[in-house]
Amino acid sequence: ATPTAIMVGTGLGAERGVLFKDAAALETAASVRTVVMDKTGTLTRGEPEVTDVITAGGWREDELLRLVVAVERESEHPLAAAVVRHAQGRPTAPASAREFVNVPGHGATAVVDGRRVAVGNRRLMEREGVELGPLAARRDELAAGGRTAVIAAVDGAPAGLIGLADAPRETSARAVAELRSLGVETVMLTGDNRATAEHIAGRLGIDTVIAEVLPGDKAARIAELQRDGRRVAMVGDGVNDAPALAQADLGTAIGAGTDVAIETAGVVLMRSDPLDVPTALHIGRGTLRKMR
Ligand code: ADP
Ligand code: MG
Repeated sequence: ATPTAIMVGTGLGAERGVLFKDAAALETAASVRTVVMDKTGTLTRGEPEVTDVITAGGWREDELLRLVVAVERESEHPLAAAVVRHAQGRPTAPASAREFVNVPGHGATAVVDGRRVAVGNRRLMEREGVELGPLAARRDELAAGGRTAVIAAVDGAPAGLIGLADAPRETSARAVAELRSLGVETVMLTGDNRATAEHIAGRLGIDTVIAEVLPGDKAARIAELQRDGRRVAMVGDGVNDAPALAQADLGTAIGAGTDVAIETAGVVLMRSDPLDVPTALHIGRGTLRKMR
């Protein structure tokens, strides 16, 4: 490997905020065949907004939100923050939560006003023994439209749904198209619902969707993609993604992200622009050509 080629590649990247950790990362970028992208915060802005509140079981919207917000205020999940923001400025007196439990990849539970409140996905409801009943169809409708549907249950009974939308980043579709023109397979990896993920992936032109993956299982899913010797890049932003970034041949941290993600990554994309993913591969390929 010529040091000059590496310096040129590293310099080209740095101009665009594409920071390669070392020469090995540049070389790996040249041979990547599959790019796995986290959905939330990578392909999407990661700033979900509440679009729908649907109640069931005789709950009034403001009463239900009061309980749900009491739980979500204790959570650090971006969906929880969106729910709290949505309810801000409403006149209802706030409630406080006891016995808060965060269930990664599922949601959260707590006791509010002496009632057990669960807020999360279908998997959480299964754990809680909650039957969705008529809400199941509404949930499917939301998911088919690309919304993330958060389910709320009170004392084991379904009480409502909160629909959230997280808009794709402006350049996500173009980035996917460019990866395709480089002959690279694109994969969306997410803990979110399958129908929601497929809707968004369809809009972006993503080849493969791996959905409903628990945070602890993401690295194993990357390993599966590597089985036939394919070089895999994983692009992610969050703490949840660090093991998957480490497992990938080329860990790619998008944006300022978390310190953990940046430490684990071979490339950091400072501008949080998905278009910098194909750019990184381009630079890698150019560098390798010069090294030969
Ligand atoms: P991602 O891969 O998008 O980062 P996570 O693994 O963090 O997803 O979460 C997966 C799913 O679990 C979310 O889409 C949501 O349905 C549910 N979930 C997790 N935490 C919460 C929460 N605090 N409130 C509501 N739903 C949650
Ligand atoms: Mg995440």
